[in-house]
Amino acid sequence: KLHNTILELKGNIRVFCRVRPVLPDNDSSGTDGAVVSYPTSMETAGRGIDLMHTAQKYSFTFDKVFNHEASQEDVFFEISQLVQSALDGYKVCIFAYGQTGSGKTFTMMGNPEIREQKGLIPRSLEQVFETSQSLQCQGWKYKMQASMLEIYNEAIRDLLSPGRPSSLEANAAVNKQYSIKHDSGGNTIVSDLTIVDVCSIKEVSFLLQQAAQSRSVGRTHMNEQSSRSHFVFTLRIFGVNESTEQQVQGVLNLIDLAGSERLARSGATGDRLKETQAINKSLSALSDVIAAIAKKEDHVPFRNSKLTYLLQPCLGGDSKTLMFVNISPESSSAGESICSLRFAARVN
Ligand code: ADP
Ligand code: MG
Repeated sequence: KLHNTILELKGNIRVFCRVRPVLPDNDSSGTDGAVVSYPTSMETAGRGIDLMHTAQKYSFTFDKVFNHEASQEDVFFEISQLVQSALDGYKVCIFAYGQTGSGKTFTMMGNPEIREQKGLIPRSLEQVFETSQSLQCQGWKYKMQASMLEIYNEAIRDLLSPGRPSSLEANAAVNKQYSIKHDSGGNTIVSDLTIVDVCSIKEVSFLLQQAAQSRSVGRTHMNEQSSRSHFVFTLRIFGVNESTEQQVQGVLNLIDLAGSERLARSGATGDRLKETQAINKSLSALSDVIAAIAKKEDHVPFRNSKLTYLLQPCLGGDSKTLMFVNISPESSSAGESICSLRFAARVN
């Protein structure tokens, strides 16, 4: 009873923490093959996580904590309800937050080729298409539209545009075309963004591959990694019941955020500094927005970043938001892990 009240007060915002396992080749960064990083002393149980760092204990509580043993299936089991609500007409956002290497992409995408390693995106899509098929016998007809973009240095890049420029710099110059608007029906419209009608998991999988390719192509010139941009996958779901004439419009946003690590200590300059500032700005804008929604504040500062403005209609109101905070288990990451947990605790 009390738990329900808490969930209500939080306005449909939930935070899950996931700790990845120590990777088998974790010592590969040491040139002599020596083990350079040991697991942090960390304890997880149910909803709690305790982390020891510099002789101090840091404790956090979330809606759920997954330890290193949680499988992709275990994680999906906990979010499949949320995916279902997109088919029921809700606007849903699922974010993965954490430092580079903490398991964000593994959680969101995983390895779509290997059954046990499939992440949330392929699993969600399977569920959406399977469920929409099975609802046909109850008179429901669904239409789905997919778009995929990344936000890099506060500029939008269409990952499904065949005429995409070959470098991010060139794209920045023409970026004016991707302006964000919201219509009266609570939909986000990004001018010139490619939106593709999709009828099967096969079609979306193909688009996801195309998007992954676009992401890596733009990087070659700048020697960049996808960890410096936010990846936003959007599936719009339109359902109409032919016997009852009932209509639903849901949106499922699955977002792999840029790495949250602070680069100040590595003395970033030039492009790298600008990049880091853009990431910090948008991540703190996201935290401000979610915290304001959670506290039911009158003013929610959506306009402070491209990401929050883009997702405005899908955050707050009766929409549903889930944030994964991904954690690296190595003691060398403890400082960053505490920052990530604090960030997540703030929006929780
Ligand atoms: P990020 O996207 O946050 O930078 P990745 O998802 O790329 O991190 O994860 C870094 C590495 O750890 C990858 O090799 C990934 O396959 C592996 N990894 C992450 N999480 C898990 C997990 N839960 N189980 C097994 N391997 C994982
Ligand atoms: Mg990644």
